[in-house]
Amino acid sequence: MQAEIPFHLENFIGGNFIGPLSGQFIDNFDPSTGEVSGKIPDSNEKDVAVAVEVAQKAFKTWSVTPLEKRFTILNRIADLIDENLELLARAETNDNGKPLWLSRKIDIPRASANFRFFATGIMHFAAESHQMENTAINYTLRQPIGVVGCISPWNLPLYLFTWKIAPALAAGNCVIAKPSEVTPVTAFLLARIAKEAGLPDGVLNILHGTGPVTGEAIVTHPAIKAISFTGSTRAGARIASVAAPVFKKLSLELGGKNPNIIFEDCDWEKMMNTTMQSSFANQGQICLCGSRILVQSSIYEKFKTEFVARAKALAVGDPLDEKTKQGAIVSKMHFDKVMGCIEKAKEEGGTILCGGNAVKPSGRCANGWFIEPTVIEGLGPNTVSNQEEIFGPVVTLQTFNTEEEALQLANATQYGLAASIWTTDLSRAHRVGAQTESGIIWINCWLLRDLRTPFGGLKNSGVGREGGWEALRFFTEPKNICVQL
Ligand code: NAD
Repeated sequence: MQAEIPFHLENFIGGNFIGPLSGQFIDNFDPSTGEVSGKIPDSNEKDVAVAVEVAQKAFKTWSVTPLEKRFTILNRIADLIDENLELLARAETNDNGKPLWLSRKIDIPRASANFRFFATGIMHFAAESHQMENTAINYTLRQPIGVVGCISPWNLPLYLFTWKIAPALAAGNCVIAKPSEVTPVTAFLLARIAKEAGLPDGVLNILHGTGPVTGEAIVTHPAIKAISFTGSTRAGARIASVAAPVFKKLSLELGGKNPNIIFEDCDWEKMMNTTMQSSFANQGQICLCGSRILVQSSIYEKFKTEFVARAKALAVGDPLDEKTKQGAIVSKMHFDKVMGCIEKAKEEGGTILCGGNAVKPSGRCANGWFIEPTVIEGLGPNTVSNQEEIFGPVVTLQTFNTEEEALQLANATQYGLAASIWTTDLSRAHRVGAQTESGIIWINCWLLRDLRTPFGGLKNSGVGREGGWEALRFFTEPKNICVQL
């Protein structure tokens, strides 16, 4: 694949790379240097309308393309992602600020895994039949929906973009997709890969632009019948308010304020190593990060001392440096938001045990947006700091005495995405797991993912589930056919 990335990115519509109809572009920044690294199309409803028209045409053929052929093309996309690992990983790191080793190890391999998984999945996807003794037989057809919209965030750019696009395409839909305007480059490169892999023109269309303009144009277009969205609860609520009255199918994967519940009988070393990751991986900018750490009182002082020492030792700096553990915060706007949350925590009476400051690395990254890993104690469950998503390298510590208290604290938020529970008591693990109000529970682990499992949140963390058959069911319409015998 062509490795050079143009300064002005283009939309991918009907198999062609084209600029926005308005001729307007917006700046894209490298967060590790604070410099403009490129421009992206400021697409509007006119660009979306053109894309929908070509997608509708392409749907006539793609929806009846044999599964084996879809499988071959999607698998080829996966292969090409693997072949271009280094190019994609560098693009992701330059856009997002995450350490390059992390892009190489997690983000890009997962993007190819998504395509490979759903390419194979569609070959095994079956529908139900229901026999009524000697009276009738019902069978259910699972038909592709048509043109669908996929909108994704900046924290795991290609990883989450492909998590939607792969099942949508596998199921026979045509897609209008929009990556985050903050991290557009790997989506642009994916368009090149799709073309090279032989995906027919118009089947996948990738448009760039902002949420309120491009995103909203996708959500409101009457011919787009389903929206798969991952992002903030605020934007999810807005999308639901627009799409629900016109009865679009909606999958919403939203924010979290995840508890990490640590009992005194945990496997200490394993818990400590994993809790460092679940707190600070990707600069804490993973929807699944455990931002509220709940520790049993009997081990609190020991936990605090070791955890803070380890957080202080995390190397913050140039994402291209192999030794860096913490890269840049994704944008100036988000940097300001996270720093504002730290100030708020201080106002609320929290004690900053470590971190709390911006970092100014020397050299290339002197003007980038970096924040020290920050640990805060002394805040109650109802403070803003323990209620609202911060989405940065910031965690709070709270204590509990009993299992009941742990559950009360864990469930004391509007969110319900993920939770980790650390205990060697098997019965307690099952009990607490069943009663914690989260869609994803990890016992003695974190971010251990099997792509077949349902993925998503309760409460204000979302509606619907992604992953495995759930995704293929979302991207198809069931139609029951009843035949009287
Ligand atoms: P965001 O909501 O600001 O933006 C997400 C995407 O939606 C972007 O592409 C954006 O341009 C678009 N968008 C924004 N407003 C829109 C609108 N009105 N109509 C249509 N599209 C719109 O979120 P973000 O800041 O990019 O990402 C961080 C958030 O995403 C956090 O809240 C995080 O928890 C959440 N997240 C959730 C999951 C999950 O699986 N539940 C995964 C990753 C991130």
